[in-house]
This record gives sequence, structure tokens and C-alpha cells, in this order.
Amino acid sequence: MVATRASAVLGKYWDGYLPVNVEAIASAMGVEVRYEFMGETSGEIHLEDGRPIMRVNEWDAPVRQRFTIAHELGHYALGHLREDGQKFFRDDRSHYSMSASRLERDANHFAASILMPTDAVHYVIQNGHATTLPALTEMFGVSRAAMQYRAANLGIIER
Ligand SMILES: [Zn+2]
Repeated sequence: MVATRASAVLGKYWDGYLPVNVEAIASAMGVEVRYEFMGETSGEIHLEDGRPIMRVNEWDAPVRQRFTIAHELGHYALGHLREDGQKFFRDDRSHYSMSASRLERDANHFAASILMPTDAVHYVIQNGHATTLPALTEMFGVSRAAMQYRAANLGIIER
């Protein structure tokens, strides 16, 4: 379900270039992205009069900011934000670790799926555009840990 939703979002909003411009996708989906100093918080997303507003820690490294945007976008795209329910998600630096909450795991799965689209990962490897972990992390604009985890999930490398 998460992968299906991510594919639909990519199909509709992604221009096909790497690294995937997650901020442009968020904007196209009507999410306002603001950069602010947020201490130990990586990012958050909330509804303001029904409109999704995302805040990203401007002090974080670009690779982390990209993951944060993709993760927060996941909360929105997967319907986690509700006017009649939870209107607010805040995420600290534990983003990359396995979270206990299913919503957080789903948001991470969504983030990985749009930052490292399945077809694109297979394509660049099969065509020799990037075959090493450093080359892949560079091409997809993600952390080494995120790329490694995704590659294992896609069955490209062993866990
Ligand atoms: Zn979250």
C-alpha cells in the first residue's frame, strides 16, 4: 500500500531526473515547505486551516533535509494528517532508526520509495551508471545508511 502510493506520487509529480527533487514534488502537491532552525527536531508537518505546512531544520545537512522532506511528505500522502484526528507530526533525529510506530515506519518506507524509486535503482545498476554504494548515494542524494537499507529491501545486496 505504501509502495503503491509512492509509485502513484512519482508517476504524477516526478520529472524523472535524479536525484529526485522531493521539495518540488511536495510543492506540486500543495505542501508549503519552510526552513527554520529547529534544535534536535529534523522536521514536522501539520495542517493549518486544512493546508499542509512542513517545517525542515535548516541546520541539517542537505541529505538529511531531503530525507526529512520525503518522510514528512509521507505523513501527508499516506493520509496520516486528519482534521478530525492527528493534525501534527514532529520527527526528531531518530528518523533513520526503526521506530515503534507503524505510521513512522510507513513514512520512512514512503520516503525511501520516492527518494530511491525501484525502477531507477535497478536501471542505474544494470546500465552501469552507478554500481558502488558511494556512487549510488551520490546519484540518489541519500545517506549511505538509507541506500544500504533500500538496496537490501530491493534484494540488490544481502542484509
Ligand atoms: Zn514521522
